[in-house]
Amino acid sequence: MSDKIIEVKNLSKSFGDFEAVKDVSFTVYKGDVFGFLGPNGAGKSTTIRCMLSLIKADRGTINIFGQSLHEHRHDILARTGSIIEKPDFYKYLSALTNLEIFSRISGKPSTKKEIYAMLDFVGLSGREKDKVGGFSHGMKQRLGIAQTLLHNPDLIILDEPTTGLDPQGIIDIRNLILQLRSEKNKTVLLSSHNLSEIEIISNRMVIINKGRSIVEGSVSELLNSEELIVTLEVDNAISAQNITTKHFPKAQIASTEGQVLHLTISKTDVANLNKTLIENGVSVSSIESKRKLEDYFIKIINN
Ligand code: ADP
Ligand code: MG
Repeated sequence: MSDKIIEVKNLSKSFGDFEAVKDVSFTVYKGDVFGFLGPNGAGKSTTIRCMLSLIKADRGTINIFGQSLHEHRHDILARTGSIIEKPDFYKYLSALTNLEIFSRISGKPSTKKEIYAMLDFVGLSGREKDKVGGFSHGMKQRLGIAQTLLHNPDLIILDEPTTGLDPQGIIDIRNLILQLRSEKNKTVLLSSHNLSEIEIISNRMVIINKGRSIVEGSVSELLNSEELIVTLEVDNAISAQNITTKHFPKAQIASTEGQVLHLTISKTDVANLNKTLIENGVSVSSIESKRKLEDYFIKIINN
């Protein structure tokens, strides 16, 4: 189907005896900011390197723009931009000169005007003639994005683009990714080890762990499950448990330990639970709720 931009099926890749990617499958649709989420070592970069033909997969298929990567590597890569490591620039040359050089090498040279427009798009206007050596990490990442945009790709693959950035740098990159979709109609695959990052900017995602894809779907559906995992700190956990079971028969008590009660309950009942406990003489000193997927992801990470 034409709206499938990436289709990865049953991808596997080993390094010696070590299987870094095992049977990974996912689909990215046109206009997605697709979150490729997994803890460090999950196999994200290895998958991405296969998708960019930097390494060869052992098994599985990769189709991009409806074509087999194996058969149409050149055409596909011509329509794809990526940042997979820290972008490398000539630090004694200006941002403008760097982009001029890269655009000449790409075989599809951009005009000076186009390069200025690109630098403006990534928020580097006014800094065009400054040496890249004096740029912050965030500015270099943004320059990297400008570089990948030079040949006007339809698909942009970004491997952990916000790692190591300061808080403002992270916000700048996230805004830029959203603009890539909204203003430039790009499809973006964004890898990250940070669930909340994916939650903020992606519409669809896959979670991968230990080389396997675990769950794929719309971010809002995956995260907005009706059930929440609630942790209550109370003066009397046994009493709190009894009151909860009596008034909220659908709530499931997961555990009580000391003064802490863990349970799952419908999102709409959380405020009421707090009120009911207090009305029944239980003192609640803290109440914390997590979505199930968040809890699941934290468990994966800590495993
Ligand atoms: P992620 O990007 O999700 O952090 P990677 O794809 O980089 O994970 O790595 C997945 C696993 O494969 C890790 O255990 C890593 O050490 C291993 N790995 C990655 N590249 C190589 C390689 N070239 N040789 C051997 N092992 C590798
Ligand atoms: Mg990686």
